Formats: sequence, structure tokens, C-alpha cells
Amino acid sequence: MTGQETPGTSAAAEKHEFSAEVGRLLDLVVHSLYSEREIFLRELVANAADATDRRRFEALTDGAKALPDDAKIRINPDEDARLLTISDDGTGMTKEELVNNLGTIARSGTRAFGQELENAKPEDKPNLIGQFGVGFYAAFMVADRVEVVSRRAGSDEAWSWTSNGKGAYELAPAKRDKPGTDITLHIKEDADEFLDTWRLQAIIRKWADHIAWPVSIVKDGEETEANEGTALWRKPKSEVTEEQLNEFYRHISHNFDTPWATLHWHAEGMIEFSALLFIPSERPFEFGETSRESKIRLHVKRMFITDDAMLLPAWLRFVEGVVDTEDLPLNVSREMLQATPVLARIRKAVTGRVLNELKTRARDDASFLTFWQNFGSVVKEGIWEDAEHRTELAGLARFRSSALTVDADKPESGWTTLADYVGRMKPEQEAIYYLVGDSAESLAESPQLEGFRARGLEVLLLSEPVDSFWPDRLSSFEGKTLRSVTQGAADLEKFPVTGEAATGESADMDILLPALKEALGSDVSDVRSTDRLVSSAVVLAASENGPDLQMQKLMRRSGQ
Ligand code: ADP
Ligand code: MG
Repeated sequence: MTGQETPGTSAAAEKHEFSAEVGRLLDLVVHSLYSEREIFLRELVANAADATDRRRFEALTDGAKALPDDAKIRINPDEDARLLTISDDGTGMTKEELVNNLGTIARSGTRAFGQELENAKPEDKPNLIGQFGVGFYAAFMVADRVEVVSRRAGSDEAWSWTSNGKGAYELAPAKRDKPGTDITLHIKEDADEFLDTWRLQAIIRKWADHIAWPVSIVKDGEETEANEGTALWRKPKSEVTEEQLNEFYRHISHNFDTPWATLHWHAEGMIEFSALLFIPSERPFEFGETSRESKIRLHVKRMFITDDAMLLPAWLRFVEGVVDTEDLPLNVSREMLQATPVLARIRKAVTGRVLNELKTRARDDASFLTFWQNFGSVVKEGIWEDAEHRTELAGLARFRSSALTVDADKPESGWTTLADYVGRMKPEQEAIYYLVGDSAESLAESPQLEGFRARGLEVLLLSEPVDSFWPDRLSSFEGKTLRSVTQGAADLEKFPVTGEAATGESADMDILLPALKEALGSDVSDVRSTDRLVSSAVVLAASENGPDLQMQKLMRRSGQ
């Protein structure tokens, strides 16, 4: 970033160019979201609320940053001057933070963002900008000039950041009585509506009603509270509408579907908390690429505390929502969060509740399969790493199988549970057979299956990376061992071959095997005749005690 003095501005003003990415983004945001311009206010109010949350949290360890008692977000329209100002008592930004947060793009998703915007339905577009962390730039949809004046909590210095959104911005020293941020928009000629108090009120009601800090509209020196500020999750279920729940879900998750499951309950007794949790009905864009940790928000007595308390295990990280408890002090520290038994109890209760919901839906609801296709790969991580819930999770899991065909018209066809597999096992069969690979379709064609098919033995077709890991850990289900068909001499001889395959000719193994073994040398550990094949001549197998073939492939990829 090269700062340079610009003639004509105050002596200390510095002009900076936007990074190329920001320039492109600004263009995208301003031009593609035009019909939904009102969401600029949602984005600016959300940023103000985030900054206020952050200051509350910083003040726990640094008393000098304490929030004023009347901390709030103020929206101040001035029709004559055509200015709209959004002010907060949040952390504020240093000069450097202004440069980093408002002049560059931290996330590298600009191109993906552009593509998503192009493909999104018009009603989905407004949520995309929240999802990609480019909300601030929405201000330029309604303003031809934006001025940010900010003073960092804990510092006396204030700075202003000014831009017309066209390639460059200016930084200059400024004055602000107390820490926080003012964002002043010079409203465009065709955007008068955003200077109207009623219009602003309506936008806040629609988009920012659940912001936990008071939001008021200032008009002629008078403040009117614009948001209800009531924590939705604390209300009795009967007082909350489905529409409010869905809007809240979209607000906290940045998704734009309606949730597949909504869990809203109040726990009393040993520990007291309210919880409002959601399971998305679609797999969110870029899900799971950044973090394995659950981002459930922890509130204490309504106040947001943190979203890193890991209130749910990693294998439920697709669950969105809020847990609010009475049983922790408002000034709870990070150390205390790690140590307190209260959180451990909440975790147990909340995990149990979500798991119960999954079990009920798995039993009663055909759409469970869609859930499984979205998030089953995540749940299977639990079979691998969560000894306490391993067996329960295995019971929920759905698999493709060599014995079932997929009917394109019936999305629910072609899937089985382990219990159903066990129900179909032959009387003499001791193991649950499975085969791991890249897709169920290609696995269904694999020569590894020939011997099993010919004997009428069913094989589960596992096609996700996590499938290389969990079967070994689970080891058995309902007393039946899980066994990869690529591992060693699967004990097939006791099952008679049925149908055409029964009448093949066999080669003279006493001559063939030693010859092959000599030719392959140290590339293989053994060459044996097998019952596993019917029409193919050879197949690669893993040794009985070693890792299965797909696992070996993964290990090679990660250089082990
Ligand atoms: P996001 O909020 O998703 O990070 P934005 O474009 O909305 O993306 O904001 C960019 C960054 O600018 C924020 O992460 C924050 O660090 C900073 N910021 C924006 N508004 C404020 C504010 N009112 N107070 C303090 N920091 C802010
Ligand atoms: Mg934002």
C-alpha cells in the first residue's frame, strides 16, 4: 500500500488506492444488488453490533475499554444535508485497521463471489454479500461518498477514511469524543427514501430486529428505539412465528434456505439455558472448508459472549444457532470457559438433543436421506472419533450397496442402514462386507465384487474420504465384524457360487502362481488364487492385517 500526499487536501491526508480485488468487488456489489439496496443498512448495523460485541469482550481483560452503560447503535438521517450516519460504541478501528478492513480483502473469494452472484436467484443475492464478508461495500449502493470516522477503544487517536468508491480512498487525522465509529453516507440522488425515518424504521424491523444491542433512530434530537431487541430464543415457543425463526436462521447462518430442523427449547433444573438450533436443508456453499469447529453462539443472560466455545462436537458442526445460559457470570473469561463444568453439562445436553432429533427423523421422515446426503460425511467423522456416540451414529448412517439399485425417479431408493444389511445377511455369513472407493457407481463395477455377487453376498459401497477411517474404529455392528472385501482372503469358499458363474474353467494354479510371483518380485507380498473373481483374471488385494486398499491410496497421497 503506497500512501502519498495529495495537494488540495489537508496537510496530513493520505491517498491510497484500493487493491484491484476491492475495485472489482465494489463494482459487483453496486451493480448486481441494485434492486435490494436496502440491505446496506442491515450490513452496517450488523457491523456496528459486531464491533460492540467485540468491545464488550475485550473489556473483560482490559478495563480501559469498558463500554458505556447506554451503549447502542444510532441511525441519524439529515434530510437537508442528505446525510445518513450510523454510529456505534464498538471497538473502533486504528488507522491500520481502517486500511486493512476497508481497503483490502482478507478473503480470496472474489471470483467465486462474482460467479455465485451471477447464478443466484434475485432473492438470494442479498445474503451472498453477508456470506462473503463484503457487507461494508454495500454502502456504495446508496451513497456516492462514504466517510468513516473511528477511534479505537483504549486510544485517544481518531482517523477518518473517505471514499467515493471509485478506485481510491483517503485517510486523515480526525476527532471523536469517545471510542467507536461513525459511518456517514452522502446519499445518492435517487436514494432519498433512505433519509426517511419511517422507511429506515421498516428496514430495521425487517432485517435487524434480533440485534441484541438497542438500535435507535435519531430525529431532531429525539431517539426512537427501532428494534425489539428481544432475544428470540428466550421467548416461549408459542410466541415465536415460523417466519421469525427462519429469518433469524438466515441472519446468523448467512444461508438462504429454510432450515431442515429447528430445535427450540428451554432447559431447567441442574442447569438453565435456552437453545435455538437449526440444521440447514442445503449444504452451504464452501461448507467445512475453513474450520472443523462448531460455531454455535454462546450467550450469557442474552449477551453474546463467543462463538468458539465448541458447544457441539465437530461432527455436528453444520448445526447453527444460539445457546443462552443463566449459569455463567457475564464477565466470564476465556480460561473460565475452558474450565467450567457448566459448559461441559450444556454440551452434553445439547449434543444429546440434536442426536435425538436425528434419530427421530431417521425413523419417521423420508427427508432424512437428503439430510444425510448433505451432512452424512460429517456425521461419519463421529463414528471415527467419538467413542461415546460411535454405535448410535453408525445406526443412523445410510449407505449405497451392491444389492440395491438406484431408481432415478425415487431419490430415496438404493440406500440402506447397517441394521437392514444385517437383516439381509446369509445365515452362515459372519461379516458385514464393504468396499471403499471414489464413487458408488464405479465401485458397483469393480472386479473386487465379482466373487461376492456370484455368491449372493451384499457389499456396502463407500465412496467418501472419511469411509477409509471409520470402519476400522467401529470394528463391528450388532455383533458382526466389518470387513473390507480388499483385505486378504475373504472367507468365500463356504458360500456356493450360484448361476452361470458356477461353471467356469480354472487354470493350473501350481504352475501359474510361482511364475507370477517371480515376475512381480518385491512389488507384491504374495500371489494367491482367489474365490473372489468370476470373470476377471486378477485383482489387487490388501494383506489381511494391513490397511485396506483405499486407505493405502490416501496414505500415499498424504506422503506417508
Ligand atoms: P465482515 O463484517 O463480514 O467482516 P464487512 O465488509 O462488513 O465484512 O466489514 C469488514 C471489516 O471492517 C469488519 O470485519 C470489521 O473488522 C471492520 N468494520 C466494519 N464496520 C465496523 C465498525 N462499525 N466498527 C469496527 N469495525 C468495523
Ligand atoms: Mg459485515
